[in-house]
Amino acid sequence: MRKSFIALLTGLIVSLLLSGTAAASGSAARPVPTGKAALTKNPIYATGEFDFTECKELNRQPDDVDSYKIYLDHLMDCLNLSWGEEFAQAKLTFAKPKVRFITAAAKTGCGKYPAGYAAGMYCPVDKTMWVLIDKHQLKDPSEFELFEVIAHEYGHYVQDRIGVLTAVDRMTRRAGKATLYAWNRRVELQAACFSGAFIGSVWHSLGRDQWDWDDLLDRTLGDVLHGKAKNIRYWLKRGWNGNGPGVCNTFSAPASKVA
Ligand SMILES: [Zn+2]
Repeated sequence: MRKSFIALLTGLIVSLLLSGTAAASGSAARPVPTGKAALTKNPIYATGEFDFTECKELNRQPDDVDSYKIYLDHLMDCLNLSWGEEFAQAKLTFAKPKVRFITAAAKTGCGKYPAGYAAGMYCPVDKTMWVLIDKHQLKDPSEFELFEVIAHEYGHYVQDRIGVLTAVDRMTRRAGKATLYAWNRRVELQAACFSGAFIGSVWHSLGRDQWDWDDLLDRTLGDVLHGKAKNIRYWLKRGWNGNGPGVCNTFSAPASKVA
């Protein structure tokens, strides 16, 4: 989620070694963009609003991990539909991500899951979204945080498939800490924007009220790796209002918006 820097970074470095992103299949598919074009002129920015805008939240029961998994699987189905269509419009090949729901620390392709630090992470090495369902969340079946965590980690998966993670990895290979952090913030804020865009597109079907969204924004904490809280909120809202990934080009944004 917003605390996935270490794992993400490790993943970035290793993903370079395994640089073979999914091969294009079908004559209509275009190659995954590379270099600066992947960041600033990515075809995903030209796809328009999400087509699928229905995503009911399923019921969960307190302390019932299975009901949480069903809830999250259903959300994954919504994300796959929404993003799959965006990829089709961008003429980029799409495949569903792997996802693992865990309730305690686990070994991932990017090292040990940082339990207590991250609510979720995407690991480019095993191409898997790792999501921690913790005791706190299990007590409150109405919580909304997991929904955002999944939408955010899915955003990192999208970044992997559209060439963003590999491009950033290459550009930062010999970068100092400050430069690395600055690039990392652009990656994280884009994932926040992707998350906001998806959530905004299905919001009317969730049965939530404004309070849930405001509460999510209010609880947003910033840091040097993810951006100031006000910037995270800015990109979440920008995505929400934009309803599609086109407004999420953090790589062309002024430095003040990705600080
Ligand atoms: Zn993240």
